[in-house]
Amino acid sequence: MMLLTRRAEFSAAHYYWVEAWSAEENVRAFGACANRNGHGHNYTLEVTVAGEVDAVTGFVVDLKALKEIMEREVVGVYDHRHLNLEVAEFKAMLPTTENIAIAVWRRLEGKIPGARLERVRVYEMAELFAEYRGGK
Ligand SMILES: [Zn+2]
Repeated sequence: MMLLTRRAEFSAAHYYWVEAWSAEENVRAFGACANRNGHGHNYTLEVTVAGEVDAVTGFVVDLKALKEIMEREVVGVYDHRHLNLEVAEFKAMLPTTENIAIAVWRRLEGKIPGARLERVRVYEMAELFAEYRGGK
C-alpha cells in the first residue's frame, strides 16, 4: 500500500463565537478569535490518499484528477471567503482548524477515483495543524 500526499493553499477569514454564550464567555474561550468582524489565515491543506501502485503507470492515483477534485471541492469553495458567513457547513460548526479538517474530509471522501482518502491535514499556520482520519 502506498500513501500519496498533495498540498494546496487557500486564504480565508473566520471568527469563533457561540451564540448561546455571553460576550464575556466568548472572549474568555476564544480570545482574539472572538472578533466578529473576522480575521484571515493562509491555510495549507494536505490530502493523503492510499492505494496500490499501478503496475503500468507507476501511479497510486490520477494526480490531475486529485488536483481537480481538491480545487473544485475545497479550494474553490473556501479560498478568499469568510468561512462563517459564506460556507454552508460552518453555519452549523465553528471554522476551527479541527472542524475545517473534518469538513474537508466530508467534501472529499468517496470522490477520489481509484484511491482511498487516508488523511486530511489543515495547517492554520506553519506551527499548527489538525489531522483527521475519518474517525479511525
Ligand atoms: Zn483565526
